[in-house]
Amino acid sequence: MTECVRPEELQRWHSLVLMDAPARISLEASAGVRCVWCDASTREAGVDLGLGHIPLRCCLTCYMGRLAWMATWWDWHDHIAACAACLRGATCYVARGRRALHAATIARGGSGPMCCHLCHGQVADHEAAVAVAWSGQSGVRLSYAHIVPCLVREAAR
Ligand SMILES: [Zn+2]
Ligand SMILES: [Zn+2]
Ligand SMILES: [Zn+2]
Repeated sequence: MTECVRPEELQRWHSLVLMDAPARISLEASAGVRCVWCDASTREAGVDLGLGHIPLRCCLTCYMGRLAWMATWWDWHDHIAACAACLRGATCYVARGRRALHAATIARGGSGPMCCHLCHGQVADHEAAVAVAWSGQSGVRLSYAHIVPCLVREAAR
């Protein structure tokens, strides 16, 4: 799995994981023998979260789920940034496809439903939306925004 992820992306992913690791974890999870998210044993197989002195680990199921969530988010986001139709706000089937692929990873990505970072409302399937990264207090968050009315209103300010 790691061959298809560039080192800098993996690094970015690790830094996002650091923010997402739950604040309260079991004693065994804090010792690295259980997954920080689902509490499954990581003795046989697990992924080091790479936090240096903190030995946190997660199980392969959570790792793959979160990696798929992140990889499909970036695919969708990077397409929008490079696509003339998307930048005009026109209907784009490539973007729709990438959004659908991303949406399919949400259940296992541990991230909850898609919510608009501007209005905090949930983004319904039929609503036009984009993947947007924004800088919060704790670093970059991978998020979403409704095109209408939220982004349009924001652009008009
Ligand atoms: Zn897990
Ligand atoms: Zn497009
Ligand atoms: Zn919104």
